[in-house]
Amino acid sequence: MELIDTHCHLNDPRLEADLPEVLARARQAGVKVMIVVGYDLASSAKAVALAEREKDLYATVGVHPHDAAKVPPDYLERLRSWAKTGKVVAVGEIGLDFYRNLSPPARQREVFLAQLHLARELSLPVVIHCRDAYDELYSLLKGEKSELEGVLHCFSGTWREAERFLALGFYLSFAGTITFPRSDSLAEVVARMELERLLLETDAPYLAPVPHRGKRNEPAYLVHIARKVAEIRGMRVEEVAAASAASARRLFGLKEGELDG
Ligand SMILES: [Zn+2]
Ligand SMILES: [Zn+2]
Repeated sequence: MELIDTHCHLNDPRLEADLPEVLARARQAGVKVMIVVGYDLASSAKAVALAEREKDLYATVGVHPHDAAKVPPDYLERLRSWAKTGKVVAVGEIGLDFYRNLSPPARQREVFLAQLHLARELSLPVVIHCRDAYDELYSLLKGEKSELEGVLHCFSGTWREAERFLALGFYLSFAGTITFPRSDSLAEVVARMELERLLLETDAPYLAPVPHRGKRNEPAYLVHIARKVAEIRGMRVEEVAAASAASARRLFGLKEGELDG
């Protein structure tokens, strides 16, 4: 079975301490590629360094909406210089979070749009974080007339919301929340969407899936999310793993051969 964890924070202090063991367990569990997602400048730098060191790791660079208020004036130049290095596959995670509003909404919008434009300039996809802001996210993305590719990570919206982003060509990624009780509305999205646009992620160290819920999450647990998606869609887990891995390779431009040796 081939699994790709499209969103994990191996750059988080909670995973750094025993990273060699975390990576060994992930590889043992069939996770062939892990995309290490940056959320501010320091974590983006770490993501790039990890990807340079480990063959099966790739990186994204970006500033999370929580950190939008704290960015230094030269943040776009710094992201741009990292994004040109070989193993950076996306700009992210970027977006809007009106649930916690750790940065003022106006500043979140500004920093999000600036990074969307950076992604377009660099022809990279975007990894989007969105919480309690799907309407506004949709109008911002729709307003960006020219081609933008990307994924809405840890999707938590309804089928009506999902449909609109799928129509714009976006991918949706599912995390451990799909394994939690009372996730019927999310299960409806998983059941109805095209499999070709569905990605899997752990978002480790957050959101550990059942049966590890409440503990530190790590990429080795991705299989529980794949199994749940397979159960909802009435498919074999191997099929879900293969289809979502192919989608991840397509979106992030990962080549098959270079990962296997
Ligand atoms: Zn996020
Ligand atoms: Zn994340």
